[in-house]
Amino acid sequence: ATPTSIMAGTGRAAEYGILFKGGEYLEQTHQLDTVVVDKTGTVTKGEPALTDVVLAAGKDELTFLSLIGSVEKQSEHPLAQAIVKGIEARGIALQEVQEFQAIPGLGVQGIVAGKKVLVGNRRFMQANLVDITPVLSQMEQFEEKGKTAMLASIDGEFAGLVAVSDTVKETSKQAIERLKEMGIEVIMLTGDNERTAKAIGEEVGVDYVIADVLPEQKAEEIKKLQNTGKKVAMVGDGINDAPALAVADIGMAIGTGTDVAIESADITLIRGDLNSIADAILMSRKTIRNIK
Ligand code: ADP
Ligand code: MG
Repeated sequence: ATPTSIMAGTGRAAEYGILFKGGEYLEQTHQLDTVVVDKTGTVTKGEPALTDVVLAAGKDELTFLSLIGSVEKQSEHPLAQAIVKGIEARGIALQEVQEFQAIPGLGVQGIVAGKKVLVGNRRFMQANLVDITPVLSQMEQFEEKGKTAMLASIDGEFAGLVAVSDTVKETSKQAIERLKEMGIEVIMLTGDNERTAKAIGEEVGVDYVIADVLPEQKAEEIKKLQNTGKKVAMVGDGINDAPALAVADIGMAIGTGTDVAIESADITLIRGDLNSIADAILMSRKTIRNIK
C-alpha cells in the first residue's frame, strides 16, 4: 500500500464527512461483509416522542404522569427525555425524587411522595414481581407499530403504560438497500424488544434483527458474528454501543452521538446519514484497487 494513495483516500473521505482515524482503517474497510447497526439514534432519529398513555383501573392520569415523570427526569436516557418532555408539555408539575436508580437496559426507579415508582420494560417488571399480564396484549399492539412501550408500577402494583415513537431517518431504507446490493449483510442490534425491533427492521429492510440485548451483551453479539468468520462493522451512537464499536473489525460512530462512542470507533460519520457506511466501503475498495 502506498502511503500517498492512502493519504489521498482519507482526505477525499473527509470531504464527504467520513473521518478515518488512521490510514489502516481505510485499508481494512473493503474487507467488511457484515454491517451491524444500532436502532435508536442510528437507524432512527433518536428523538422519540410520547404518543400514548394507558392507565390501570382506578388510576388518575395526572398523578400517574407526575410520579413517572419525576423519576424519568433524573435519567439521561433518550426514552426518559421523551417521556418527560411529553409530560411537561401537558403542564404537569414534577416532584422531588429520593433513592433514584437507573438500571441499564431495564429501566429506572425512585421514591416520589413516599411511593416507590418503577418505569421500564417487561424484564424489569418481572424482576420486581409486578404482575403485567392484563396489559401485555395492548403492549404488543404498540410494539407492532414500532413503538416502545414502557410499564410503570407504584408500590409494587402495575399502574400504567406509556408508549413513545421514534421516526426512522428518511435515508435509512435506501442506505440499507445500497449495502445489500453491494453484497453486504445488514443486521440491526438493539436493547429494545423483539416486536418493536422487527417492525422498524422490516420498515428499513435489514436482513434480520437481534433484539433484547443488554448493553454489556452488545459486544458479545459482535464477537459471535466474528467467530463465524465474518468481517463485521458496528455502527452506533450511544454509550451502550461503545464496547461493541471497539470489538468490531471496524467501528463507525455517528457524529452526533456520545463522546464515548466516537472515542471507541475507528471512523466517525459526521452526517447521521447511513449512506456514509456504503460510501466508506466504496472509497476503501477504490483505494485498494488503485494500490494493487
Ligand atoms: P437501545 O439499545 O435501543 O439504546 P437500551 O439498552 O438503552 O436500548 O434500553 C433497552 C430498554 O430498556 C428500552 O427499550 C426500555 O424498554 C428500557 N429502558 C431503559 N432505560 C429506560 C428508562 N429510563 N425508562 C424506561 N425504560 C427504560
Ligand atoms: Mg443508539
